[in-house]
Amino acid sequence: MMLRLVGVIAMATAVTLIAIAVADFFAAMSSDDVGAEPTKFWMFFLALPFFVVGGFCLNAGFLGAGARYAAGEVAPTARSTMGYLGLGATTASCASCGAHNKPDAKFCDDCGTALATGCASCGKSNAADAKFCADCGGKLT
Ligand SMILES: [Zn+2]
Ligand SMILES: [Zn+2]
Repeated sequence: MMLRLVGVIAMATAVTLIAIAVADFFAAMSSDDVGAEPTKFWMFFLALPFFVVGGFCLNAGFLGAGARYAAGEVAPTARSTMGYLGLGATTASCASCGAHNKPDAKFCDDCGTALATGCASCGKSNAADAKFCADCGGKLT
């Protein structure tokens, strides 16, 4: 969090310094006075260390967030793999869009595709493409 804050501030400083340097450069270029020289171009060089520090901090700050994001992405996949193996099915993957839904969900909460077919005789939810009830063997329509 601290890294990101420092990174954003350093980046903002660098961008501001570069903007001033570039504006001054073009102001001197477009000036009618032939002898006009950009006087604030040193700001461009001053901006470089800020740019490097800002880039480093942002990278480090968001890399940590990225790693956490990746871990968050892996966990549901691992869970659904467990589900396929029959080990504590916690999610029902939508065949249409791949979204994870509750195992008892009948429709995908992301795209609305039917996820499960309720058995007419016992009421159990079966996979949307199941032809026979997993619980009582009744034919599913
Ligand atoms: Zn879906
Ligand atoms: Zn049934």
